[in-house]
Amino acid sequence: MRRIASRYIAGETLPEALDKIQALARRGHTSILDILGEDVTTPEGARGVADEYLAAAEQLAQTKLDCYVSIKPTHVGLRLGEALALEGYRRLAKHLAKLDLFLRVEMEDHTTTDATLRMFEALARDFENVGIVLQSRLFRTPDDIRRLQALGPINVRLVKGIYLEPPAIAHVDPEPIRQAYLECSRLLLDQGAFLSYATHDASMAEGVLAQLRERQLSSERYEFQVLLGVQEHLWDKWKQAGHPVRVYVPFGPEWRPYSLRRLKKNPEILGHVMRASLGLS
Ligand SMILES: Cc1cc2nc3c(=O)[nH]c(=O)nc-3n(C[C@H](O)[C@H](O)[C@H](O)COP(=O)(O)OP(=O)(O)OC[C@H]3O[C@@H](n4cnc5c(N)ncnc54)[C@H](O)[C@@H]3O)c2cc1C
Repeated sequence: MRRIASRYIAGETLPEALDKIQALARRGHTSILDILGEDVTTPEGARGVADEYLAAAEQLAQTKLDCYVSIKPTHVGLRLGEALALEGYRRLAKHLAKLDLFLRVEMEDHTTTDATLRMFEALARDFENVGIVLQSRLFRTPDDIRRLQALGPINVRLVKGIYLEPPAIAHVDPEPIRQAYLECSRLLLDQGAFLSYATHDASMAEGVLAQLRERQLSSERYEFQVLLGVQEHLWDKWKQAGHPVRVYVPFGPEWRPYSLRRLKKNPEILGHVMRASLGLS
């Protein structure tokens, strides 16, 4: 597992993550810092995670690198209560604003969507340095986009959605998810959003790029976002074509569930690991 994980995570400690972010910057990529973890089970645990993020942000700010912070709602206590999670996010948004850092509220499975959007709406009214994630897999997302328009131009990471949702509320086949992604992109561009296209789907990205060309949008209005260790040839291709690429850099001792999710997503990696372990590659 460790071998598999080392491809997708920067390490267990903050210094290892900062080294990775520095190395990515030398390659021309900006980054996102994520402390691995989710579903905390006590309020003390939730507050502890927010404290950990605050300490990490202090050190990140000192590096002066272009990197922001991304946090899952259940990591700051959403399963224990919306007020607790919002308190954590507020504390972070306020402190990060002072450090000139951005905060991304991540999106988890559909049982958390309403609460996550409510928290984001509350945060966006008070802070400029906050963005959200929207999932094209969910049928509800176009309506959410229309509602969020009331906040003015927002900062969105658009994803397909990693959680397998029931067919009553979500697209389940790849092609409708792709079509919905392009539709959400269109809606968000029409609303003047800043868009982070978090995908490794090269052909879908071509569709996105066609929309951007049609609107003659400069690279200040969008970026691509990718996961550490996933489809690196695409990062360089996009970068060379003038499209900004930001890399998600997760770290921390809780690497096991994250790595398992990556492995499920791409079981071929297990083959590479087995071959390497046997000295065959
Ligand atoms: C920066 C970033 C942040 C994200 N944040 C969220 C979030 O907050 N909430 C959420 O629900 N989802 C999030 N996701 C995940 C996203 O929803 C998709 O599940 C994921 O990106 C895979 O979809 P794809 O668009 O890359 O296309 P796919 O068609 O799934 O993948 C394209 C190719 O890339 C490979 N690939 C893709 N992802 C992985 C992986 N993880 N490991 C190994 N190989 C892979 C596939 O094997 C395939 O060959 C995030 C993704 C990124 C890149």
